[in-house]
Amino acid sequence: MPEPDIYSLSLDELARALVSFSEPAFRAKQIFDWLYVKKVHSFALISSLPKPLRDKLSEGIPFPVLKETARYKSADGTVKFVFELHDGQHIETVFIPTAKRGTLCLSSQAGCKFSCRFCASGLHGFRRDLTTGEIMAEVLAVMRAVAPKPVTHIVFMGTGEPFDNYDQVFKAVRLLNAKEGINIAARRITVSTCGIIPGIERMGTEGLQIELCVSLHAPNDAIRSTLMPINKKYPLKALLSACRQYARATGRQVTFEYILIKDLTCTRQAAEELSRLMKGWLAKVNLIVYNPVKEFTYSSPPASDVRMFQGVLEAAGVTRTLRSARGDDVSAACGQLRNVLSNC
Ligand code: SF4
Repeated sequence: MPEPDIYSLSLDELARALVSFSEPAFRAKQIFDWLYVKKVHSFALISSLPKPLRDKLSEGIPFPVLKETARYKSADGTVKFVFELHDGQHIETVFIPTAKRGTLCLSSQAGCKFSCRFCASGLHGFRRDLTTGEIMAEVLAVMRAVAPKPVTHIVFMGTGEPFDNYDQVFKAVRLLNAKEGINIAARRITVSTCGIIPGIERMGTEGLQIELCVSLHAPNDAIRSTLMPINKKYPLKALLSACRQYARATGRQVTFEYILIKDLTCTRQAAEELSRLMKGWLAKVNLIVYNPVKEFTYSSPPASDVRMFQGVLEAAGVTRTLRSARGDDVSAACGQLRNVLSNC
């Protein structure tokens, strides 16, 4: 693993690296500005540094390898990028523009070991964790590609389970949030988990104002264990208890994602069960209509079932939104990302 690469370094770590090169620490802020505000991707381009220092940095600290190998543009403006890493692994990153925001959906691992039965990301197994630097390189590559459109929000909802790569992901979160760097407000950064309880507990102690999103996707253990094998390790009762504790300790709302699958999770009985689970919560439910993946046999529900489901939640006073499918024509929607090239 080519570590530490430049994007893996915090401001303090970069300052220490400069001192080890017998250079003044103050140059770290200068370099951060070039990397994260001007977004150059070579030390040679940092014209405000003396040439000998540029050469020293080029020899001593690598940039992470992230090569764009494909780009697919959806009719709705969503863009999916496929990147190749230094060891030949591929990841996918999605930019979702709307009138008011530009959301970047990041991958945190190449592949995924959790094998949720509706998600393409786990189909080819787990390859490896991404480094902080590779995650930051994803962000910067897309920022450069979509400019002048801004990236205003970051969601860790691409390939991989962020809590399974906790240290690298949270170092990236702090770098994304750093005012000397990309400076994205913490409330505009969301970490989504399939329900790793120790990760939820740890995130509750971070003191960060970032958003927690939990993939619930089913109203009971029987359906959830079918859809998400992780439920056998962290069943619903324990998961919801950890979420309640998180909400109490941080005063922050938890968002639950719930996938609507025809005749399975999008039934009246499921809506009633979900309403009971959500009763009395500081929480919001984000409903997502299942996006087809050719390897799975599930189907999207008809619009009438979706309306029925929403109606039951509304009658029960559950705060919910229906997320519109974005980028499904280029396999960039929820559950459709992979670690091998997609057949778009
Ligand atoms: S939903 Fe998340 S945890 Fe589950 S297989 Fe997909 S990427 Fe992995």
